[in-house]
Amino acid sequence: MAGGLGRFARVWSPKSLDPALLAIAGTAIAVRFRRHAGARRLVLRLSSDGTAALVTVPKGVSRNQALDFVRRSEIWLAEHLGQRGETIRLAPGQVIPLRGLDHEIRHVASRRGTVVADPGASLIHVAGSPEHVARRLLDWLKTAARAELSRASRKYAEAMQVKYRRLSIRDQRSRWGSCSASGDLSYSWRLILAPAYVLDYVAAHEVAHLRHLNHGPAFWRMVLTHCPEASRAKKWLKLHGQSVHRVVT
Ligand SMILES: [Zn+2]
Repeated sequence: MAGGLGRFARVWSPKSLDPALLAIAGTAIAVRFRRHAGARRLVLRLSSDGTAALVTVPKGVSRNQALDFVRRSEIWLAEHLGQRGETIRLAPGQVIPLRGLDHEIRHVASRRGTVVADPGASLIHVAGSPEHVARRLLDWLKTAARAELSRASRKYAEAMQVKYRRLSIRDQRSRWGSCSASGDLSYSWRLILAPAYVLDYVAAHEVAHLRHLNHGPAFWRMVLTHCPEASRAKKWLKLHGQSVHRVVT
């Protein structure tokens, strides 16, 4: 009986399932599981950076069953791994990172043209007419980027006792942000795709330039004093920064 209860507890555990590592097409692929009570079936996706398989696991399905499902999908995975580095369009069914977490874009047939992110279900719902999904989602991403970069810039300007003039959001391929000698800040909207601590660090970096227009020791002292996650964020940008440029607009 105890054994039966143990099995039951494992199958129905609402806790997250331990990730696994599978060799697919000669590459070690991390398999991450996500319990989703509302899911009707097992769903397999490739993470937006192409390095992990993401499995949505419905209630009542065990980790072993989910792992078998991934093994049976080996051909699908191998094909999609081959497309690593491919561009991502802002279209239904595509997976984009938002604040560092993969979200699948879903179109909702509704007249009200709203965008709602549901990080718990890894979904972004885009309402309105289907031909406007890309435009509407891009506008929403830029608005979210502006709101969060404004908040972070205000926070650091206050902490570092500096003032900026204007803040603008752009799509710069070569840089994440910039600070002009006249005190204007500009940032890439794509920072909303990166983890929050990365967006936060870029704001700290640019705001610190309002005091030090160089990358000297005093500049870095100021950044590190106010933004303890700076090193981690720099590492992320170096390793994964290009991944957010895969999203095409
Ligand atoms: Zn700089």
